[in-house]
Amino acid sequence: MKIYKFGGASVKNAEGVCNLCRIVGGANDKLVVVVSAMGKTTNALEAVLDSFFNRKPDLEACIEAVVDYHNAIVDELFTPQNRYAVDEQLAQLYGNLRADLALKPSLSYDYEYDRIVSYGELISTTIVAAYLHTQGVRVKFVDIRNYLKTDDNYREGNVDMKLSHRLINDVFNFVNYDLYVTQGFIAGTLTNQTTTLGREGSDYTAALLANLLDAESVTIWKDVPGVMNADPKRYTEVQVIPKLSYKEAIELSYCGASVIHPKTVKPIQNKRIPLLVRSFIDPTQPGSVIEEVIGKLDLPPVYINKANQVLLTLTPRDFSFIAEEKLSKIFAILASYRTKVSLIQTSAISFSLCIDYNPAIFKNLVAEFQDEYEVLYNTDVELITIRHYTKDIVDKLVGEKLVFVEQRNRLTARFVISEHGK
Ligand code: ASP
Ligand code: MG
Repeated sequence: MKIYKFGGASVKNAEGVCNLCRIVGGANDKLVVVVSAMGKTTNALEAVLDSFFNRKPDLEACIEAVVDYHNAIVDELFTPQNRYAVDEQLAQLYGNLRADLALKPSLSYDYEYDRIVSYGELISTTIVAAYLHTQGVRVKFVDIRNYLKTDDNYREGNVDMKLSHRLINDVFNFVNYDLYVTQGFIAGTLTNQTTTLGREGSDYTAALLANLLDAESVTIWKDVPGVMNADPKRYTEVQVIPKLSYKEAIELSYCGASVIHPKTVKPIQNKRIPLLVRSFIDPTQPGSVIEEVIGKLDLPPVYINKANQVLLTLTPRDFSFIAEEKLSKIFAILASYRTKVSLIQTSAISFSLCIDYNPAIFKNLVAEFQDEYEVLYNTDVELITIRHYTKDIVDKLVGEKLVFVEQRNRLTARFVISEHGK
């Protein structure tokens, strides 16, 4: 049994859904197919949520954008004769969404987020399963919220593996079906509230299901030919890395390589399940495999640009040392703002950290530190990570740029540089 995961880009239009159907149809394996929301639907639903939660006047327009986008895809995929079932299922989903949005929002943004944004995956999987059905493929649709169970840490639910193990194995039992379609990214609490696993979390779902079901492999179908040594949208001379270890993959994704979500590696590593990254544009290509590697692989320099960072420097106003207690308080504040730290550097009385820039919370975050620290920051900085670096590649990427922080160890060199060059 294998897990296939299709991200938003792979199902952004009718052609994408047809392509998914071809890939799944040609698989010859028992499959669980995990699907994300179509295209940029999660962003569109975040706009719905923002309008709903903040009582803005454009709520109806935001909802219509989501509905119209999906209806256009359905119009292309189905005929007037075979669209009855999908129309009915979607009408039900849109009805539920509107009913949720007709209520007064609760005080918890995160709770409302999961309730609303999860419709993206529910809609996409409904369309995909219905389309497969019209193509004569026997498929079982599963609402994963009933089986993948988390705590109520909304927007980043922590999965209860023990409980989910039993429930997941009961439902994906391959007794009457060889093919299941289910949602990435979303899950449910013990009391059946909807949760999500964090943005871009569908890869993580695929990895969790692989772990829970002891799958043979996980394949993530992407718009790139595999794991590349650099972003092909940014650099011309890039190459596919045919094989990576789990450790290499987790380091790369942690540094900002967007090819897989950082949380994806642990569940598959723990069971030594190989993860394949393949192109849905050219499924004849082998792509990359991430697996247990004995010995050392000869890898080219791999470089990752993480844009839109802020470099924050905190200096205690009373000139005291930055010791453990201070650090733990700083990290507690960052965690409470769900801010991920990409790099840190300490000196006796200053602490610098590179974090993702989120304009919605940045001012408040800085204010939290200002009582105790003098806070300096640079926005518009970029973090460049180069694994397996060479002098040439460092010169090429960093060259004359203004470097704020530089860290090197044997394998990895990291630079916080100004986004505007010098
Ligand atoms: N649809 C979700 C997102 O865009 C999850 C995913 O695509 O992995 O964040
Ligand atoms: Mg996505």
